Amino acid sequence: MSTTNANPSENRELPERGPVPPRKSEQPLLDTRARPLRDLRISVTDRCNFRCTYCMPKEVFGKDFQFLERDQLLSFGEIHRLVRIFRDHGVEKIRITGGEPLVRRKLERLIEMLAYWDDLDLTLTTNGSLLKQKARDLKNAGLKRITVSLDSLDDAVFRSMNDVDFPVAEVLEGMEEAERVGLLPIKVNMVVKRGVNDHTVVDMARYFRAKGPHYILRFIEFMDVGATNGWTMEHVVPSRELVKMIHAVMPIESAEPNYRGEVAERWRYQDGSGEVGFISSVTQAFCRDCTRTRLSAEGQLFTCLFATQGTDFRSLLRSGADDDAIAQRLQGVWGQRADRYSEIRTAETAKLRKVEMSYIGG
Ligand code: SAM
Ligand code: SF4
Ligand code: SF4
Repeated sequence: MSTTNANPSENRELPERGPVPPRKSEQPLLDTRARPLRDLRISVTDRCNFRCTYCMPKEVFGKDFQFLERDQLLSFGEIHRLVRIFRDHGVEKIRITGGEPLVRRKLERLIEMLAYWDDLDLTLTTNGSLLKQKARDLKNAGLKRITVSLDSLDDAVFRSMNDVDFPVAEVLEGMEEAERVGLLPIKVNMVVKRGVNDHTVVDMARYFRAKGPHYILRFIEFMDVGATNGWTMEHVVPSRELVKMIHAVMPIESAEPNYRGEVAERWRYQDGSGEVGFISSVTQAFCRDCTRTRLSAEGQLFTCLFATQGTDFRSLLRSGADDDAIAQRLQGVWGQRADRYSEIRTAETAKLRKVEMSYIGG
C-alpha cells in the first residue's frame, strides 16, 4: 500500500492487511539521559465540547478562539504513516487524545488503521460525553481499553468544573457502555483541585472500588500545563495527602509498578478489592523514567508536556519526504532530548508560555 499521503482525505488509506511486520530495529532510540522512546500520545483535535476550568478556561477558549482548521489537522493516513515509523523506533504504546478525541469525525477508522499493529498497546482518553454512542464502534475497530476523565460524582461540582453544565450521569452511562462492550479495564482520571473537588475524593474512591477491579481510579495533581489555567501551588493537593485521606477510610498499601516509567503510582486496597493510582507530576517528579512524546493534531512533536516549542512533522510529510527523512528527524529530536521540567519546576518556570494541554494532548 502507498504510505505517502499528502492529501488530508481520511479515506485514502486502507488498514494494512496480512501479518504484522517485525520492527525495523529492536534497538530503542535513547535520549541524552538514556531514556528510550516508548510512548506516543496523539492528539487528533484541539477542539472540545467541555471547558474544564483547569484546561480550557472559557475566558480564553471562547467564541473567538482560533482553533485549527480541518486541513491543518494530520489526516488519518498521515498519522498512520508516522505511527509506523515511530513503532520502528521503539514505540510500544499509543494513546489517542485531544482536545476531545471523540469529536473527531470517524475516529473509529483511525483506530482500525492503528489496531493492525497488534504489538502496540492502543488506548484512548476521553471526557466520556460521547462514549455511550461510540463505545461499540471503537471496540469493533480494535480498541481494547479506555481512560475516562471524571472529576467528581457530585453533579454540581462536576457541572461547574466542566463549565458546560454536563451531568455526571451521562459520563457514567458512557462508562457502563464501555464496560458492556468490553473496553476493559476502564481507567478513571480525576484531577484534584484544592477547594474545588477535593472534598469528593473519598466518595469517588468508594464508588469505583465497589464497581470492581476492572475500574482503576487515578488521582491527578492539578498541573501548571499551558499558560491560561491560573495555576498556583495552593491549588495542588499533594498525592501524599490523598493517600492518607483514603487510607483512613479504606486501608490501602503501596503496590509495585507494572513497568519502569509507569506514570501512576499504584496503591491496592488491603482487602483485595482493587487498586487506585496517583499521578504526582508536581510533588514527585518522574522525569527520570519519562519515555513519552506527544504529537499535536497539526503534526508538531513535543518531547515534554511542558514544552514551549515543538518540531514540525506535517510539513515534512506534505513535502513528499520519504520514510528515511522522517526517521532522521525523529532520531534527531529524540537524540537531543534533555527534558526534565517537573524536576526543575519553580514558581518562575510555571509562568512560561507552555503549549496548552488541549492542543498537545494530555
Ligand atoms: N478530553 C479528554 C479528557 O478530558 O479525557 C482528553 C484530553 S485531556 C487534555 C487529557 C487529560 O488531561 C484529562 O484526564 C484531563 O483531566 C487532564 N488534564 C487537563 N488539564 C490538566 C491540568 N491542568 N492538570 C492535570 N491534569 C489535566
Ligand atoms: Fe476538554 Fe479534556 Fe481539556 Fe476537559 S480536560 S477541557 S474534557 S480536553
Ligand atoms: Fe516527562 Fe516532561 Fe513530565 Fe518530566 S515534565 S515527566 S520530562 S513530560
